Amino acid sequence: MAGAWIIADNREQTLELLTIGRELATTMGTKLTALLWQDQELADDYISHGADEILLLPPLPEDQPPGAYIPVIADEAQKKDPDIILMASTVRGKEMAARIATRLNTGLCSNCIALNLGEDGKTVEMERLVFGGTAVQKVTCTVRPAMATIPLKTFEPAVKQEGRQGDIRELPAPAPSPVKILERKPRETEAKDISESRIVVCVGRGIEKEEDLALARKLAHALGGEIGCTRPISEENHWLPEELCIGISGISVKPDLYIGLGISGQVQHVTGIRDAKVICAVNTDENAPIFAAADYGIVGNLYDVVPKLIEAFKT
Ligand SMILES: Cc1cc2nc3c(=O)[nH]c(=O)nc-3n(C[C@H](O)[C@H](O)[C@H](O)COP(=O)(O)OP(=O)(O)OC[C@H]3O[C@@H](n4cnc5c(N)ncnc54)[C@H](O)[C@@H]3O)c2cc1C
Repeated sequence: MAGAWIIADNREQTLELLTIGRELATTMGTKLTALLWQDQELADDYISHGADEILLLPPLPEDQPPGAYIPVIADEAQKKDPDIILMASTVRGKEMAARIATRLNTGLCSNCIALNLGEDGKTVEMERLVFGGTAVQKVTCTVRPAMATIPLKTFEPAVKQEGRQGDIRELPAPAPSPVKILERKPRETEAKDISESRIVVCVGRGIEKEEDLALARKLAHALGGEIGCTRPISEENHWLPEELCIGISGISVKPDLYIGLGISGQVQHVTGIRDAKVICAVNTDENAPIFAAADYGIVGNLYDVVPKLIEAFKT
């Protein structure tokens, strides 16, 4: 056994990958290695959260993209032959994972939500959602290393253990990438990140006009929550930014309370709310699929129901 590797952009993602990485490495009787390229001072922190070894990638010049690290990471993986490489399923992580897998001529399970060791104690069995979240696909990789990208929040962050020891090793500086960064500017968005919101009021096509979003906002405000939407509201009507779209092609939310207003409840949307603690739905159609996912359902016109809810929550 030659080890489990984890690669993520920042501390939050790394701590989540350390949880599953530590579990696999311990069961396999191998060591857990974390690659680190941004804040190199985090090396000791990652060791105290479960890593046995840190591979430091030297900082890149300003005009170099993180993709410049790919040949260095792939070369090291070829030398050390890890059993498994786990990466965070972010835009950057997914792109880098695919390019590393290609260099290593191995398979990659994208958006993996569970990993287990097979009966032989060696084969890694990976699971991912398919068909819009209606089925779970089991994937085993028959070549080394097995690779997977893991969505954020799939695992709890690793817990600090006092007194852990580990090795820190520096990898060579990468050769200059032919891709150069000419300018960096923050992405313009008016949307708040609602993936961590405690209360989410979500609007669907049952809302007739853009101005009527004010009603949903008022309800969210009365509850101290935020608003989200279905894909038609952001992608077709452009009434809300795409960052607020909940579902398989948007974000996943885990609120204590989700209230869906005029939402049919198609699987592509419901996939994004499966971890909500309580789901409430308001819909005129008593056969709307959202009611099958809901803990509380109100069959009614949202234009009648929402003002009453606002009044009730105000008092
Ligand atoms: C590959 C793919 C990916 C997708 N990804 C996503 C995704 O990430 N997120 C997502 O949301 N969708 C996604 N979709 C689209 C998804 O399939 C549905 O089309 C979408 O979720 C439907 O949105 P909706 O519920 O707002 O609209 P509709 O399905 O049109 O439902 C509107 C509902 O409002 C009710 N209604 C109407 N008037 C009122 C009223 N006055 N009061 C109360 N209820 C009323 C109706 O009875 C109806 O049930 C995806 C589709 C595909 C093919």
